[in-house]
Amino acid sequence: MSRPPARSHGRLSIRASARPRDLMAETARPGAWTARVVTLFPEAFPGALGLSLTGKALAEGLWALETLQLRDFATGKHRNVDDTPTGGGAGMVMRPDVVDRALAAAAEGTSGDWPVIYLSPRGVPFSQGMAQRLARADGVTLLCGRFEGVDQRVLDKRRVLEVSIGDYVLTGGELAAQVLIDATVRLIPRVLGNAESAVEESFSEGLLEHPQYTRPNDWDGRQVPEILLSGHHAKIAEWRHAQSEALTKERRPDLWRAYLARTGRDPVEGQELSDAQTIAGKGEQKD
Ligand code: SAM
Repeated sequence: MSRPPARSHGRLSIRASARPRDLMAETARPGAWTARVVTLFPEAFPGALGLSLTGKALAEGLWALETLQLRDFATGKHRNVDDTPTGGGAGMVMRPDVVDRALAAAAEGTSGDWPVIYLSPRGVPFSQGMAQRLARADGVTLLCGRFEGVDQRVLDKRRVLEVSIGDYVLTGGELAAQVLIDATVRLIPRVLGNAESAVEESFSEGLLEHPQYTRPNDWDGRQVPEILLSGHHAKIAEWRHAQSEALTKERRPDLWRAYLARTGRDPVEGQELSDAQTIAGKGEQKD
């Protein structure tokens, strides 16, 4: 059987193959954070990950991307990867034996902290915190679903973590995998040009980011806020922080409540709690 041709992205070669180690980026630095993606559509990668900062970092070997074609692990004349749902119902389900062989191959050569994730609308919600934890791992294996999803038994057997990128249903896991990889890779040291930018972004402090402006100062009759032209860095930082708080309070009450609780302020009124109240709980009940 002839192999699909390699596709070149910069100096990285991505090939649909059953043997992940064949796919190691020639340029990936030893120990580079690696995303191994099990998918029926390897051609969807690197997709948007091949652009801009993530693409440059990929070409420079700061991280590595490997794809495994799920169909390569199917057997029989038709190499079926799916079958009808047991108990009836619409659609098809990805077969446990095929997924199991693919995940076994994806596990080859992995060591250390290497989670295995199935992108799934019923998974735990993906978050900036999860991206931070994944960026500290050695790599991640991502299983992209199609059809009605994956037979539960292989997820249980391999203790796969289900992760959702939001409360909506996509056609397949490939876009979700790219979202997860993008958010993670940009936290790997040296991937972002300016190390500061990841610190100031939305969610890094549990708040949404303040509004951003650039030149010209007067555009279409609209001025940039005066404070940003003052050159007074402490006052600018204070203004930005206040903007972040106001935006978070208005748009994301869930994040705002968590932020208030973390910073020791009253989650209901937004009031500072005294140390005694914080330790004792939320203060005395009124009659
Ligand atoms: N029947 C499934 C359900 O209702 O939960 C939906 C399957 S969906 C059509 C096909 C695949 O897309 C899933 O197996 C999963 O890999 C991916 N997918 C869809 N929505 C997703 C989401 N919100 N987050 C992560 N992956 C998602």
